[in-house]
Amino acid sequence: MTDPVISARDLTVSYTLGRGLLGAKTQLHAVDGISLDIEKGSFFGLVGESGSGKTTLGRALLKAAPITGGSVEYRDEEVSHDLRDLSGAALKDYRKRAQLIFQDPYAALSPRMTVRDIIAEPLEVMGLTKSRAETDERVREIAGRCRLNLEHLRRFPHAFSGGQRQRISIARALVSGPRFIVADESVAALDVSIQADVLNLLRAIQQDMGISFLFISHDLSVVAHTCDHVAVMYLGRLVETAPTRSLFARPLHPYTSALLSAIPSLDPDETSQADKLEGEIPSPTAPPPGCKFHTRCRFARDACKRDVPQLRELAPGHRVACHFTEEFDFSRAPAVAPRRADATA
Ligand code: SF4
Repeated sequence: MTDPVISARDLTVSYTLGRGLLGAKTQLHAVDGISLDIEKGSFFGLVGESGSGKTTLGRALLKAAPITGGSVEYRDEEVSHDLRDLSGAALKDYRKRAQLIFQDPYAALSPRMTVRDIIAEPLEVMGLTKSRAETDERVREIAGRCRLNLEHLRRFPHAFSGGQRQRISIARALVSGPRFIVADESVAALDVSIQADVLNLLRAIQQDMGISFLFISHDLSVVAHTCDHVAVMYLGRLVETAPTRSLFARPLHPYTSALLSAIPSLDPDETSQADKLEGEIPSPTAPPPGCKFHTRCRFARDACKRDVPQLRELAPGHRVACHFTEEFDFSRAPAVAPRRADATA
């Protein structure tokens, strides 16, 4: 394993909500004791249902959500930052090194700014260039990398399609020279044909510029084609984390297996309804005790309602949080083929 760009240990993000009917304050544990390492230059996928805490985790790693417990460390070739007490000049420096690509390319761009000004804004706000000429040169370089037509820099966002707008968002995220990017459902709002185009661009950026990505998605087939490593999140906790091929070929957690069952299979004879996920994800203000998945797990036993399962490494880099995983076999022919180097390992 190469050095991690992000190391989180027992990371917790919780919010105190208003008083309920009985006057007691409610705690919402959006992220509940997560530890993970994101390797330099990797494409790290984070999956789970809506309400699992993925976005909050991504924002905490950007110091955009409150870190209420544990630690997050960022490290690149030049600096390291402890995110817990980052402020002032150090926070400004981190903003330059860690960026976010939003989900909705329509809402993310100001309709009153030209494409040039949208991409240039982080440079100007952070004071990263000394002259307008230097800013323009940087904007043109990044726009070219994102395959934007340089003749269009004076246009406004409404003139562009969803895919082109997402390229503008990506250029804006890249312009400060980040080493770590959180891409939060960055292709979810796009047509399928455009998704592949944007994913190819993100992978090219990762490989050419050595940027590390946290790629948040509810779509496992997209993650399979894009990511080197995948973590599965449920109700604020990681339940499984593994190299992509390992996770898709042999999921170890019943929740992961159920998510994979929801992907349409390439094999018309395969029936995977046995793993179908029932019910709704519980509220993070009243999470079930023990294994948080026990209210929806068809394998749950009494111990699951009482004891919190910890992540255990059962194969190289493949960790799972389930008391009884050794008794299950969720092996499958992948419905989607994991990609490239990872797929030939
Ligand atoms: Fe299911 Fe129990 Fe494993 Fe949780 S610990 S996933 S409830 S079998």
